[in-house]
Amino acid sequence: MVIVVIIGCHVNFTQEQLLGSTKQALDYGANAFMFYTGAPQNTIRKELDIKLRDEAINLMQENNIGLENVICHAPYIVNLANNTSEDKWQFSINFLKQELSRCKFLGIKYIVVHPGSAVGLEKSVALKNISDALNFIIDEDGPMILLETMAGKGTECGATLNEVKAILEQVNSNHIGVCIDTCHLNDAGYDMKEFDKFLEEFEQIIGLEKIHCVHVNDSKNLLNTHKDRHENIGLGTIGFEALLSVVLNEKLKNVPKILETPYVEKLYPPYKFEIKALKSRENNPHLIEDIIEYYK
Ligand code: FE
Ligand code: FE
Ligand code: ZN
Repeated sequence: MVIVVIIGCHVNFTQEQLLGSTKQALDYGANAFMFYTGAPQNTIRKELDIKLRDEAINLMQENNIGLENVICHAPYIVNLANNTSEDKWQFSINFLKQELSRCKFLGIKYIVVHPGSAVGLEKSVALKNISDALNFIIDEDGPMILLETMAGKGTECGATLNEVKAILEQVNSNHIGVCIDTCHLNDAGYDMKEFDKFLEEFEQIIGLEKIHCVHVNDSKNLLNTHKDRHENIGLGTIGFEALLSVVLNEKLKNVPKILETPYVEKLYPPYKFEIKALKSRENNPHLIEDIIEYYK
């Protein structure tokens, strides 16, 4: 039996909103995708258009893109970990609540959230703040929040499975999951070349059923360097074979794999070619040249 790999990438969300995102994903040959409801760096959000939403959902159905494979990513400026400024912390909570209702309107099932950075607070206090915030935010009937595993840059929380576990344990709901990111895991010290071993550890500490999204990125940096700089598939320290073993892993076969690799020369999206390489299980030694050739 041929396994259908659920694979896609980060796409834009502009004038045509979710419809534009869906068209872009299809152009890349994706059957899954991830979008931000506006710029990832800010919290300015436009009103959502019901007609564009319905057209998007129709287009997904026509092309076998399941809504459970369409992921939203919250902007990275929200920080649930630090409540030194009560106002800022409340702003993050309220913004995420609104983001959740926007996702609900769009029919989205999962939203990825970065746990946040402790900045000056003790780690245990920061982890508790994240859980407290999540207890305010979680909507049992809305999309599920997925906490992303982080690289551990600066004072980032959620760079170890035990930290993620500590957050989950203090949340009074089961309506919460995890998004693993291969670049972040590598940079946090988990070797993606031994992915089965990592999954065993994940199963023991958290439970594999909690994983609802996988970010597939190569890394510019070595294991355990706590950097978080994504690299194109096959060109980083993780390498094509290890990333392919993640993408094809039987235990995660129903979980969408999302690429967040950098644009080539900051201009050309690599996704069409990276998706093709991973789907065909063959590394493209001319990846960068092919991308430049195609788009220039
Ligand atoms: Fe992320
Ligand atoms: Fe990620
Ligand atoms: Zn990252």
